[in-house]
Amino acid sequence: MNILILGPQGSGKGTQAELLSQRFGFIHMESGRFLREIAKTNKRIDEIMMRGDLVPTDETIELIEAHLASRNAFARGVIFDGFPRDREQYFALKEWLSTKGQKPDIALVITITEDETIRRLSARRTCEKCGRVYNIITNPPQNEGVCEDCGGNLVQRKDDEPETIKRRLLTYHARTQPMLEAIRTDGILYEFDGERPIEEIQKDLVKVIETHM
Ligand code: AMP
Repeated sequence: MNILILGPQGSGKGTQAELLSQRFGFIHMESGRFLREIAKTNKRIDEIMMRGDLVPTDETIELIEAHLASRNAFARGVIFDGFPRDREQYFALKEWLSTKGQKPDIALVITITEDETIRRLSARRTCEKCGRVYNIITNPPQNEGVCEDCGGNLVQRKDDEPETIKRRLLTYHARTQPMLEAIRTDGILYEFDGERPIEEIQKDLVKVIETHM
């Protein structure tokens, strides 16, 4: 099964995708985290990401395809998180999946308001060692500034600073919203209110996935 999980930055889609992948054994293909790893050794990609711009589509797709191809992804099922991000990427993904006898099966969209995005992202902290994400308001670590999993330092991502957040939101509205219309036309779009407790949202997502299994 191929699931797209969508929503603006801070909507909690990463948290939900992680819970779903643990429950069903899906591969969680989180493009932002994946590209941040690559950016550590690729200055050009790092600069693009630090500005809050998108990495060029051809390059992103090539990297993601290679990553999934090496993981027997389709036998396990994949949750695409952060990719596709615009119509061009959506159509490219559909085309690539079709060459594997696959298609996007469900798109889960988690919605939150713009004010809530800014509030949540400003409180987000990421472990610089393992990448685990915390929120100092809603999901703080046991010890301030320290990752519970690996003891790494928790830092604020440079692109989670207010000006860059605004830029990323503009990109979301300009590029991702039109993609949602294309997915709606394909009849696979399900929308959820993201301003509710994590467990409540998860229950709703699980229900939709189970009806497609
Ligand atoms: P995220 O963690 O999803 O907010 O992504 C962080 C950054 O990674 C974005 O601002 C982009 O620079 C890059 N990125 C993530 N996913 C994609 C994608 N599908 N296409 C292009 N760039 C991406």
